Amino acid sequence: MSDIERDPEPPTFADLDIDDRVLKALSDVGYESPSPIQAATIPPLLEGKDVVGLAQTGTGKTAAFAVPVLSRIDTSIKQTQALVLAPTRELALQVAEAFGKYSAHIPGLNVLPIYGGQSYGVQLSGLRRGAHVVVGTPGRVIDHLEKGTLDLTNLKYLVLDEADEMLKMGFQEDVERILRDTPGDKQVALFSATMPGSIRRISKQYLNNPVEITVKSKTSTASNITQRYIQVAHQRKLDALTRVLEVEAFEAMIIFVRTKQATEDLAEKLRARGHSAAAINGDIVQAQRERTIGQLKNGALDILVATDVAARGLDVDRISHVVNYDIPHDTESYVHRIGRTGRAGRQGDALLFVAPRERHLLKSIEKATRQPLAEMQLPSVDDVNAQRVAKFGDSITESLASENLAMFRKMIEDYDQEHDVPLIDIAAALALQSRDGEAFLLSPEPPAPPRREREPREPRPPRRFDDGPAPRSRGPEGQELAAYRIAVGKRHRVVPGAIVGAIANEGGLRRSDFGHISIRPDHSIVELPADLSNETLEALRRTRISGVLIQLQPDFGPPQGRPSGRGDRGGRDDRGGRDDRRGGGRDRYND
Ligand code: AMP
Repeated sequence: MSDIERDPEPPTFADLDIDDRVLKALSDVGYESPSPIQAATIPPLLEGKDVVGLAQTGTGKTAAFAVPVLSRIDTSIKQTQALVLAPTRELALQVAEAFGKYSAHIPGLNVLPIYGGQSYGVQLSGLRRGAHVVVGTPGRVIDHLEKGTLDLTNLKYLVLDEADEMLKMGFQEDVERILRDTPGDKQVALFSATMPGSIRRISKQYLNNPVEITVKSKTSTASNITQRYIQVAHQRKLDALTRVLEVEAFEAMIIFVRTKQATEDLAEKLRARGHSAAAINGDIVQAQRERTIGQLKNGALDILVATDVAARGLDVDRISHVVNYDIPHDTESYVHRIGRTGRAGRQGDALLFVAPRERHLLKSIEKATRQPLAEMQLPSVDDVNAQRVAKFGDSITESLASENLAMFRKMIEDYDQEHDVPLIDIAAALALQSRDGEAFLLSPEPPAPPRREREPREPRPPRRFDDGPAPRSRGPEGQELAAYRIAVGKRHRVVPGAIVGAIANEGGLRRSDFGHISIRPDHSIVELPADLSNETLEALRRTRISGVLIQLQPDFGPPQGRPSGRGDRGGRDDRGGRDDRRGGGRDRYND
């Protein structure tokens, strides 16, 4: 059987008419081929057309707009030619960083992020120096426009990134104002994960006959493939993979990663851990690639670490497992990847690593393939150790069947007679030697931090108002969160998105800095980092939502038989805190 199926050739970046300097940068960062949204979006944007792209984070949408914009910027003109609007400071920084990466070979090109919470000074000097590309949150962009510090009279490209998020966060007016008050002949690219009526209307009103791009997905997955996922943070993926390799009974495995460099790095790390692994990617010459696949077929190699392109059409019956170490950009790649197992009527196993922020991609995969993926727990230390012990037992059984045992049996008998040591101790000593002193079992994991429900409920000592807020939960990155009260509530018709939008922008916070939000009749309680600086607190006291000053201040819960004096309130009462979380109108703003 041939190991390559006939598949339509995907386009390469070189097919897309991208500026050579940008092309070189894409090759430096190790992208092998355009993701579907890039393949569909880059050509019309390079032709100067407006584009509406339905795409989520993780699909490669940043490069989909950054690459064509950078291919057409004129660095001989000092003025701002491209503006990208993003809903949060976090995304603005990420997008600016991506522009920086893709423009590494364009001398003199300046990219400037501007967002709420950062001092105006840094932004002003950046703007004065002349930024060809500005990436900003809508509120701060409007501020600069009003102050006359940002000049968009020569704007040629406007990108709205995560447009639906921007509207949800209350930036509709700002976004429309920017669309209206910038040159009529600019090119506009609008990216959104969803297409609510408000986005349709904006696209109709402000875009010029846009090309609409939704990447169609191949959606059928074979029923003989068991599909599971593991939730794991990026920095723990390697540990998760090595545990999976220990507990899963696999014959051969393909592990998918996103870049060529990652194939080499991961294969190297797996070899260092004693696995027989090799990398294949688009840079590996055909002869070498065929040799590697030959080894995988004949069992000389068990693990292949591959990019999508390199593994396209690979057909090796032994592949019992596919691991999506980096989640694919789109459903079609997912279907393609997992189709590398379950060949020749066999059973196959597909495993997907999902980082907390990638959960929406998992949902898209489940929706498109109409098949829910079962969650697999990360194998525990006990699971791994049980496997090690079982394998140890198997290796003894195997060696007992060997013909070469006779010579060693004689030596052990002699030793036993000379030393009078129980045979079991001799066996244990030999086992220790064969393990070369390595720690045979994994050490127990440090105990997990106690869950909130298990926290002792003893009353806390009364706190003074000026102590600062008491931490009451942890954010996704482990940061301590505390409760803050703001003076807007249901009466002011605020929604969680507007609160996040305003506070994130003016306080320079990231979405992952938000905990629960509880909207009460005339105020709201928001969980934010316990250690907000005085500067941030000051900025947030003066922030407005729906025109109302929010007067943000630490919340200490309902008073508890207040003894005396200003602010001598009872301890921030746990009951109050917990009730918030159960109460209506709350939402969690990080993942
Ligand atoms: P984005 O959807 O723009 O946030 O991109 C998600 C991730 O995919 C980022 O880590 C990018 O660096 C990466 N990425 C984007 N385009 C490609 C590509 N063509 N090949 C490999 N990785 C890519």
